[in-house]
Amino acid sequence: MKDDFKHKGMRKKLVETLIKKGIADESVLDAINSVPRHLFMDSGFVSHAYVDKAFPIAADQTISQPYTVARQTELLEVKKGDKILEIGTGSGYQTAVLLEMGAVVYSIERQNELFKKTKLFLPKIGYRPKKLIFGDGYQGYEEEAPYDGIIVTAGAPSVPKVLLSQLAIGGRLVIPVGRSLQIMTVYMRKGPKEFDKKEYGEYRFVPLLEDKN
Ligand code: SAH
Repeated sequence: MKDDFKHKGMRKKLVETLIKKGIADESVLDAINSVPRHLFMDSGFVSHAYVDKAFPIAADQTISQPYTVARQTELLEVKKGDKILEIGTGSGYQTAVLLEMGAVVYSIERQNELFKKTKLFLPKIGYRPKKLIFGDGYQGYEEEAPYDGIIVTAGAPSVPKVLLSQLAIGGRLVIPVGRSLQIMTVYMRKGPKEFDKKEYGEYRFVPLLEDKN
């Protein structure tokens, strides 16, 4: 699995595109500049890896658009050592971006095929999440709560209350909320029962599905 000067050059261009689109957080841009996105797609699609587009992966799912990954990561305000829960592991690309930023990452995926594939793949290219979980992200992951951040990478028809309850005080939940179109929404936990909510524009995600395993 190669990551040569050509890929690095394409990645640099992608980062420039993201800056033009408004991504400003240097640590996010550095992470995008470091993660070899082409390795997260089936070979033969390298030319698609560094354009700012979502792309199909296995099991009818998609690897999120780089801008979306960058924006969600920026809104999560990740600091080194933060404990982060990701809902929707998918290809593992977002997971790798979080790991590049020094986060301790737990990630849940409900599609067994993707879960197995990504669990094998990430360590092969040097990314070691704390734990990949096969299960329903609607329930979060109580065992390791509370989290400094929770990031949902599929469109949620509504906000699962249990995710809010698994945030540390000061923690942030970044979640696209809506059915056919989603509003990127950030909840910041200010106290045991106090949350600040902010909205950040429209996105289109594959749906967050209720557990059907
Ligand atoms: N973060 C991924 C994005 C994948 S798309 C990446 O960077 O590639 C969203 C993912 O969420 C899909 O893999 C889908 O199977 C998963 N998903 C949908 N509903 C889920 C749920 N209830 N629990 C866990 N994962 C879910």
